[in-house]
Amino acid sequence: MKAKPTKRHGDVILEFDTGDEPLLAAAGRVSADSLFRLKRILVPIDFSDCAKKALRYAIPLASQHRAALTLLYVVPANYAVGEYGGIDYGSLEAEMRASGERQLASLIVDEIGDQVPVDPLVQCGSPAAEIVAVARGMPADLIVISTHGRTGLKHVLLGSAAEYVVRHAPCPVLVVREYEREFVVE
Ligand code: ADP
Repeated sequence: MKAKPTKRHGDVILEFDTGDEPLLAAAGRVSADSLFRLKRILVPIDFSDCAKKALRYAIPLASQHRAALTLLYVVPANYAVGEYGGIDYGSLEAEMRASGERQLASLIVDEIGDQVPVDPLVQCGSPAAEIVAVARGMPADLIVISTHGRTGLKHVLLGSAAEYVVRHAPCPVLVVREYEREFVVE
């Protein structure tokens, strides 16, 4: 490769010959990589087998992109507001948060180990809305969510949580269905 000055101040012309092909190929690879780089992937976890399946997709994706995972469990808000009818919802919420933290910690040990960097996160609220809010705040580059479609007769393909997230997410969403052809080879 040769660099020659041009008439325009500061500009140069680069001349390549056939021996420079590996150099050009490497330059192409660098720009392709930088076009699509995931840094932070959000995986909502409700501790179902289906959510664990989504996690098994997210781990190799994170590893390939040298990205970090955030595992989010949302304590449903209807168990966690106010105090009513002799039930102390404040302590119930605290218990559910603590239990969520313990379950996330053991999921990380069992499924991830030291394969990729991971942060556990427990929030309280409406699960689907919290997933979107957390993705926006991080900000997440990708959400990997599973769907088993338990709720909503109209939701044949997607369950209500996954549908809400796909509709409102500020980033791309990878939806892993409960029954489908497996891509991840164990
Ligand atoms: P539904 O069960 O309401 O039909 P989907 O099947 O669409 O909803 O979505 C289920 C997925 O949504 C779970 O596998 C999980 O990824 C996410 N999810 C549901 N509830 C929670 C929660 N409380 N915290 C975190 N993620 C959740």
